[in-house]
Amino acid sequence: MKDLATSAPVAATRGLARLEALAPVLVLLIAGVCLPLFGDSYLGVIGTRACIYWVLVSGLNLVVGFAGQIAIGWVALLTLGAYVTSVLTAGAVAPELSPYLALAIAGLFGAIFGVIVGLPALRLRTFYFAMTTLGFATIVTQVALAWKSVTGGGVGVPGPIFPWPFASPWGFYFFCLGLALLCTWMTANIAASRFGRALVAIRDAEVAAEAVGISKPGLLVKVFLFSGAVAGVAGGLFASLQSYITPDAFTFDLSILFFIAILIGGRGSILGPLLGTIILTALPEFAAPLVAWSTFLYAVLLLIIVLAMPGGIAEVLDFKNRRPLERHREIRPRPELLGTLSNPDTSPAVLTLKGVSLSFGGVRAIDDLTLEIRAGEVHGLIGPNGSGKTTTLNVISGYYAPQQGQVFLRGKPLRPRAPHTRAAQGIARTFQTPRLIGAASVLENVMIGGSKDGRSTFVESLVALSRHRRDEAMLAQAAMTALSVVGLEQLAFARSDRLQHGELRFVEIARALMLRPSFLLLDEPAAGLSVEEIKRLGDLILTISRQGTGVLLVEHHADLIFDICDRVTVLNLGKVLASGTPAEIRAHREVVNAYLGG
Ligand code: ADP
Ligand code: MG
Repeated sequence: MKDLATSAPVAATRGLARLEALAPVLVLLIAGVCLPLFGDSYLGVIGTRACIYWVLVSGLNLVVGFAGQIAIGWVALLTLGAYVTSVLTAGAVAPELSPYLALAIAGLFGAIFGVIVGLPALRLRTFYFAMTTLGFATIVTQVALAWKSVTGGGVGVPGPIFPWPFASPWGFYFFCLGLALLCTWMTANIAASRFGRALVAIRDAEVAAEAVGISKPGLLVKVFLFSGAVAGVAGGLFASLQSYITPDAFTFDLSILFFIAILIGGRGSILGPLLGTIILTALPEFAAPLVAWSTFLYAVLLLIIVLAMPGGIAEVLDFKNRRPLERHREIRPRPELLGTLSNPDTSPAVLTLKGVSLSFGGVRAIDDLTLEIRAGEVHGLIGPNGSGKTTTLNVISGYYAPQQGQVFLRGKPLRPRAPHTRAAQGIARTFQTPRLIGAASVLENVMIGGSKDGRSTFVESLVALSRHRRDEAMLAQAAMTALSVVGLEQLAFARSDRLQHGELRFVEIARALMLRPSFLLLDEPAAGLSVEEIKRLGDLILTISRQGTGVLLVEHHADLIFDICDRVTVLNLGKVLASGTPAEIRAHREVVNAYLGG
């Protein structure tokens, strides 16, 4: 049974969305190609500079705009690339190289140093990482000043000259325009790949990203390599445009320009930061008296944008998310489609907690908890607020290491404190407070659940090779089916922060289903749903379990628990108060008195 009904519209809508995204870039490109018709060579210099800056900013955009890492000293890589290219083409310290080869080597240096500057981001948070990038920028400038025999110190070195056809100013302009276009295309490919989605997931929902198996360090290293490489290349181009470079050509203002271009452009967008770069490059030029005030201007512009349109230019241009959503929406899951999605591992698996205890300071959140969840069954976990239900889920999914006891899957102990390993082991979960990327579409959020099924490498995605395209088609199709299963396919292309709370819970279930899990942990999925929707949710959960998945259901709605669970465990103050079939629990005097209220 294949759900063909959804596939054609998916392709069509995605195609349309791509065209919509492409149109403004095409307009810019045509304007760029026609620039020589408009005017003098000074305009050409500004155009060239904007292209060069964009080569750098396009890569930095993946670091700042997509991954949300505050890298403000990126000018250091521009400096590095400029000196590497200039020194290698000057022939003073080594045999003279062709400028193209020198440019490629600058890219290589940029990549290596991009990772070195980026590495602290794996450990340090926001502000501290920002400081290390700044520190690096200072070091590079100081080295350029001090290492006179190579860099010429304060006197500087001549920049490279690219031979015919790029020797003339307009020729060089087209060379830079071509590279800028290439960078736009490559970063757009990454943005539309599982790598781009994973970057945004790390930024906005890191915990959920880990739960679907995304490894932050691996991903960030790839992005720093790329971002460093293009920054190095931009440096080589910059040196050629300047024709002579000294350390004071690389001011801190430049770094601020790059960073702010991304912020005013809008995080997670390509077009926005591209426009931001053009505006910030051109602005001081067209208001010559303002050049001295450029940093001030950037700051004012940033303030205005942050206050007036926090989503940046990209949000202003995002017309499709202003179309109103249908008011009276209903969630109608279609569990019968589940078969098209899942091929659950039918081996009879068991997930076991043995004598698990965990305290937070003086609070014993779970106390000697023993629990067994079997494939194909729904196991209810109930108890008053603060009784340790969510903590139990967090221990299973690897966020907390138990102080005593262990968690076993198929008899083998699961590694504590390694949430990103759970997806590969077939354990999926949802969160008590939904953790989704508000700025991404519902479909993209669900596709994130399938990240580990992607086969294409970062480089393949960068240049959109066939494996990347196959991945995308496969993930989009699977995500659409998962959305149909939970009954939300009509909202696939809406930004997820426009959805209601109850809908978000179903989006999380769809994302979890993308893992085709052996075990599914649900944390209060019925909260905020109507009675009718709770019943449908119950049917959905039952169908999921009957396909072979073991479900651990944390819930407050007693009816739902007693309707669909095969087994129920009642927690109180972290301890098991009772455990058994729903009928046994319902008849348990202590439970009835303490929890079910009569
Ligand atoms: P439930 O999900 O059953 O409502 P939780 O598992 O969230 O309960 O919490 C159990 C107890 O552990 C509560 O007393 C809660 O305050 C405490 N707790 C949970 N997580 C933390 C944490 N990260 N730090 C400190 N205390 C915590
Ligand atoms: Mg809870």
